[in-house]
Amino acid sequence: MDSSIGLYVHVPFCVSRCDYCAFATWAGSEGAIGDYIEAVLAELRLRRQVGDPFSVQTLYFGGGTPSLVPARDIARIIEEIGPEPGAEITVECNPESVTRDKLKAFKDAGVNRVSLGLQSFSGEVLRSLGRSHDPKDIYPAVEAIDGAGIENYSVDLIYGAANESLAALEETVQKVLELSPVPMHVSAYALTVEKNTPLARDLARYPDEDYQAVAYTLIDEMLTGQGMGWYEISNWSRPGYFSRHNWNYWMQGEYLGLGCSAHSHLGSRRTWNIFNFNRYILVAGNSGDPTAGSEEVSGHEKATEALELLLRTNVGIPATAIDRFDEVASLCDLVDGVATLNLKGRLLANQVALRLDPSRVGLEELKWFQKQTPEMISS
Ligand code: SF4
Repeated sequence: MDSSIGLYVHVPFCVSRCDYCAFATWAGSEGAIGDYIEAVLAELRLRRQVGDPFSVQTLYFGGGTPSLVPARDIARIIEEIGPEPGAEITVECNPESVTRDKLKAFKDAGVNRVSLGLQSFSGEVLRSLGRSHDPKDIYPAVEAIDGAGIENYSVDLIYGAANESLAALEETVQKVLELSPVPMHVSAYALTVEKNTPLARDLARYPDEDYQAVAYTLIDEMLTGQGMGWYEISNWSRPGYFSRHNWNYWMQGEYLGLGCSAHSHLGSRRTWNIFNFNRYILVAGNSGDPTAGSEEVSGHEKATEALELLLRTNVGIPATAIDRFDEVASLCDLVDGVATLNLKGRLLANQVALRLDPSRVGLEELKWFQKQTPEMISS
C-alpha cells in the first residue's frame, strides 16, 4: 500500500528580502522561476522513480513567496503530483503579489487553502521588519481570496518588533478579527533574531522577551475570545480548520520536500536538499539527485522529539514523561494523567521540555497521542 505523506514545495523567490529573514530565498531572481519549476518537476520524477510509492494527503507551497509563481506552473506541479481526493493544498501568499484572477487560477488548479503573510497592520512595524507590503495591500488581498472563492485562509502575524506598541498589536489583532471574511486560522510568531540578517546586526531593533510574553498573552486572549482555539503554541484555528500539513509534521508523519533547502522525513531517514537555488537548478534540472545530506534518526531521538512536539500542541503528553512533574505542575493542566501546557506553560515551554524523559513512556502510548487531532482533543 502507498504511504500517505505530506508534500512540501519550496519556492525560493521574494520581491525583496525582509530584515529578519534567514530562509532560503533570493530577491531579484524571478527570471529563474521557469527553470526552477522544471527542476522541481524533475526532482519529483526522480523521487518517484527511486523511492517507495506514496500518495499525497497534504501539499504545501511555501517559501519564499509562492504567490510569485505563475498559476500555470502551480497547476502543472499539482497535476503531476496528483494529490489524494480531498487533499489540503495550501499556497503561501504575500499581500502585494495576489490578485483575484491569479487566486482563481490557483483554485481551479486545486488550491483550497491560502496562508497570507499579513504580519502586521502597522505600517511602521512592517517597515521596521523590512517587509515589502503596506497595510493598504491587505484588504485587496483578502477581497481577492474571497472573490476567488477560497474560503479556508490563514493569516501569519509577527509580534515583538522593537517599535511595536501593545496598542498597535491590539489594533492589528482587532483588524484581523474584523476582516471579511474572517480568517479560519491564525499563526502568530515571536520575532526572532537569526544569524547573518540585517536585524542581527542592529541591536537597537532586538525584540524584548518580556514584551513578547505580554504580546503573546494579548494575542491568545483576543483570538480565543473570538472562537479561535489554540492547538499549537503559535497556531489558533476555528473548529475543523487546523493546518493538516503542519499537524503531520508535529505528529512526526512522513513528508517529502521538493526544491532547494527542502527537508524530507521518510521512514527513519531524514534528508535535506542543496540550499542554493542556482545549484539546485543545475543538479535537479539535469535529472541529478539534489540531496545534500541525510541522517538516520534513532529510536531515542525520535521519542524525545515526539514528546517535544506533542508538548507544544493541545494534545499534550503523558505527565509520567515529565521528570519531577511537581516542579512544573503550575505550568500544566492535568486531566486523566495527560499534561497540557496552560497559558503560562506556553510562555515557559522550555522549562517543561528540559524535563522530558522518553524512557518513562512506551512507544505504543506515544503513538496513541500522535494519532489525535485538535478536534478530538477539544470535543
Ligand atoms: S517575504 Fe517571507 S520568505 Fe520572503 S524575505 Fe520576507 S520573510 Fe523571508
